Amino acid sequence: MKHDVLSGSQVAERARLAIPGGVNSGQRSVPGLTDLVIVHAEGARFRDADGREFVDYHAAFGPPLLGHNDPDVGAAVAEAGRTVDLCGVGVTRGEVELAETLVELVPSVEKVLLTSTGSEATFHALRVARAATGRRLVVKFQGCYHGWHDAVSLNVISAPDRVGGRDPISTGILPEVLEATLVLPFNDAAAVRAAFAEHGHDIAAVIVEPVPHNVGCLLPEQEFLATLREECTRAGSVLVFDEVITGFRHDLGGWQKLSGITPDLTTMGKAIANGYPVGALGGRADLMELFSSRPGGPAFFAGTYNGHPAVVAAALATLRKLRTEPVHEHVFRLGERIRTGLADVFAGLGLPALVTGFGSVFVAYFMTGPARTYDDLLRNDAAMFIGYRRRLLEHGVFELPLNLKRSHVSYAHTDADVDRLLEAAEAAARAQL
Ligand code: PLP
Repeated sequence: MKHDVLSGSQVAERARLAIPGGVNSGQRSVPGLTDLVIVHAEGARFRDADGREFVDYHAAFGPPLLGHNDPDVGAAVAEAGRTVDLCGVGVTRGEVELAETLVELVPSVEKVLLTSTGSEATFHALRVARAATGRRLVVKFQGCYHGWHDAVSLNVISAPDRVGGRDPISTGILPEVLEATLVLPFNDAAAVRAAFAEHGHDIAAVIVEPVPHNVGCLLPEQEFLATLREECTRAGSVLVFDEVITGFRHDLGGWQKLSGITPDLTTMGKAIANGYPVGALGGRADLMELFSSRPGGPAFFAGTYNGHPAVVAAALATLRKLRTEPVHEHVFRLGERIRTGLADVFAGLGLPALVTGFGSVFVAYFMTGPARTYDDLLRNDAAMFIGYRRRLLEHGVFELPLNLKRSHVSYAHTDADVDRLLEAAEAAARAQL
């Protein structure tokens, strides 16, 4: 039977037979929200096969800053499809224009390579850091996510008893690979200094989400980021800002532009192409040039789909719109309305909540006190966090009902959408009390 005449539950059932777990990426399957078969997405909304429509604040973990199926991005992709597809030799005009745009926009980027995903970008950042330094160790921070590859697949959302040790998010990783990654607490400059004092001569790279959005939102202290820069410079280690979320969403120049702290390498993805699969690794020319060699050279870089004309067209159309329309002004204003509005709603109900975020990103933790480090987030009431978001679904508002996940507002969201979110928040929180 054809899929378009099947109900959501029938398609989902067939998905579970043909696809392990029924979905194609971790965390797309949400306990309590079964049979979610998406059939339409446009602007600030998506709809499923059973006719349920949601105002979407999940935003696919972050890419569609302009909203779903932006018409200008779609038109650029369609035009690319009529012009050129993948040839796998040479370069296209679009790739050069995109590279030049990234060099112009992002302070650390002197040269840049395109990938299809953020994980490939962070993988190659660490590879070239090791190639350049001849060193072994990588430093990451508790709560940061940098993709699915082995060196960084540890200590993202850890249970309290796993914080402070190595906490892999997957089995099947060689212990020696995990041991080559040191995990430090975020926003802890003293811990960074201590790690460099002990291991500095062997640290190839420090990789950090300048704002750890994979646990909602921990805002970085300036002294912390400055310490990373100082220690890396002193020890000759490569500082990598993973701006896969913060890049283009918080500022066209990323968090490095906002903070004034320039890393050696930057990884990008998500909002760069509004949902089309583009990642990028850029940075210091001397480091990036290590990739310019042929196989067998200092650092190898490849990918059949890198710089695919359709996704490059999507990126160029996205960046053009971000530069010429008041996208940031709009999403920052709505983000602020949401944060203030939610804080008022929870305060009115006497519910302990910390509403935080930046620009278009927001998250409501159910806890008291500030959130500086991952340890602080262990005070969040996970059952309330998830229960509240499940209730939001009943009101047609989609925030991913998984602990510590952030939400996003897009250029397609309106003030009326925000009003609806705030009304739903009040009803959902009240029902959870
Ligand atoms: N870096 C950060 C900060 C991310 O949030 C993600 C994905 O969520 C990645 C890297 C990996 O990107 P991708 O899923 O495109 O491989």
